[in-house]
Amino acid sequence: MKILLAAINAKYVHSNLAVHSLRASAGEYKDGVCIAEYTINQMKDDILKDLYLQSPDVLCFSVYLWNLEYVEAILKEFHKIRPSVPVWMGGPEVSYETEEFLKRHESVTGVMIGEGEDTFRELCAYYHGKDAKELSEIKGIAYRDANGGICFTAPREPKNLSDVPFCYDDLEEYANRIIYYESSRGCPFSCSYCLSSVDKKLRFRDLELVKKELQFFLDKKVPQVKFVDRTFNCDHQHAMAIWSYLAEHDNGSTNFHFEISADLLREEEIELIESMRPGLIQLEIGVQSANEVTIKEIHRTMKLERVKEVVRRIRKGGNVHQHLDLIAGLPYEDYESFRHSFDEIYALWPNQLQLGFLKVLKGSFMYENAKTYGIAYHDAPPYEVLYTKWLSYDEILKIKRVEEMLEVYYNSGQFEVTMKLLYAKTDSMFDLFLELGEFYEKKGYAGMQHSRLKRCEILLEFLEEKDAPKELFREALTFDLYARENCKTRPDWAPAVDVLREVTRKYCTNGKLSHAEPFHYRFPGKNEIGVKELPERFAFTVWALFHYEERDPLDHQAKVEYLEIE
Ligand code: SF4
Repeated sequence: MKILLAAINAKYVHSNLAVHSLRASAGEYKDGVCIAEYTINQMKDDILKDLYLQSPDVLCFSVYLWNLEYVEAILKEFHKIRPSVPVWMGGPEVSYETEEFLKRHESVTGVMIGEGEDTFRELCAYYHGKDAKELSEIKGIAYRDANGGICFTAPREPKNLSDVPFCYDDLEEYANRIIYYESSRGCPFSCSYCLSSVDKKLRFRDLELVKKELQFFLDKKVPQVKFVDRTFNCDHQHAMAIWSYLAEHDNGSTNFHFEISADLLREEEIELIESMRPGLIQLEIGVQSANEVTIKEIHRTMKLERVKEVVRRIRKGGNVHQHLDLIAGLPYEDYESFRHSFDEIYALWPNQLQLGFLKVLKGSFMYENAKTYGIAYHDAPPYEVLYTKWLSYDEILKIKRVEEMLEVYYNSGQFEVTMKLLYAKTDSMFDLFLELGEFYEKKGYAGMQHSRLKRCEILLEFLEEKDAPKELFREALTFDLYARENCKTRPDWAPAVDVLREVTRKYCTNGKLSHAEPFHYRFPGKNEIGVKELPERFAFTVWALFHYEERDPLDHQAKVEYLEIE
């Protein structure tokens, strides 16, 4: 008996924790359970062929927001070529409105609703025919009966998280991929757009077990472990115990990612975070909006001023990568209000600012109340907002332009110094990104892939229209360029330097692993934020030496040393 768990991930570096956890939970049936992981970038036909050639006796799909359409397309074809193979589905995208889903897909045998570990083991027993329960006795499923009717069984009780087996015994299959790890399940908060708010049964994995498992990752020196805990620090003692363990047992290379509520951090936690090795942990902090009315309306428990205070303080430490999230399209957030939210959060200078668009998820409060809020959204996943009572589609398109430019010029981290200087040229970075996006459209640059050098040239062209000091921005872009890499070809717009060869010969003794470059301005440093006044030109030249062998663990930029040259 071969039971195949199939997952279609968004990227190759992702791994699917759900299918690995299900296999680990299959108990005596584990050996007969295989995993097939694909990505949405693969051709559907190739995935179909592989599923067919694997000849499963039972096929189970892990479904979520980003792969639903893919899975739906593949399973229709799969049924034609393997009509007798039962197909089961699981995941948040099928756990709500399950009946409609089963009606839409007659080829699907059933759905595992909610937590799947115990349900899956019982389904394995059912297909192996050993002391098996009838389908009607397996909790947490919806299935078709002999007459084609859809039956729901009793819901399954939340599982003790410490009883879920560790699924990473063999790390070979995760080479070059992110490891996902769960130390708590559920969320105590009630954000109206989020499915985690529906399940209120917050549970924690036993701390001794967690430490043992983290030690396994540390010993194996895996590059990155992402905690999938919905609000990692919702329990102070749990978070403190894990962070303290990581700080004490740091192997010098593994990075751990956490989603947290910044305003819940206590002094003790902040001090511990400040003491950590740069790059040991990174934090994802959902802000979503700076509009208090919106925050209240979406039932979010967040003290905005405290969030800002904590983000600023951690930023000063310079040892933790912070990723902040905003959502456009929330109730009571109109264009002006969103623009203000953007500028307020941008002013915190996180390492990354993700501008997302509301997704109206089935099962969420937002879904139930979409009409009241006048929210129109895409029929297809990820059900992204088109317009709301407060925000028109035209305005959404403008925000999309801002998002595109934000990704290219800010989140890429490739224009750090230039972005800090540009801050002096505007009262609103939102407006500046919008103008830049419109410039891309006007000049026919939008919707294309551009090299990094081309992005620099476009920015210089844009700045010329804004009457920005030419030399300053050319030098800033040159600095940003060489901070990332030792360019093979010097860009035409980079200042011509007569003595470059001479200085390079003298100071760059390790060949291409360093680069010397002259500047005439003081640029904002790593731990500084954007400036409100552009720097004055020096009367002399300052030489910077970029060391590519020594990179910043947070942004991978070369270490910069300033030379004393006459
Ligand atoms: S958005 Fe975050 S804090 Fe809010 S309910 Fe979801 S997981 Fe919890």
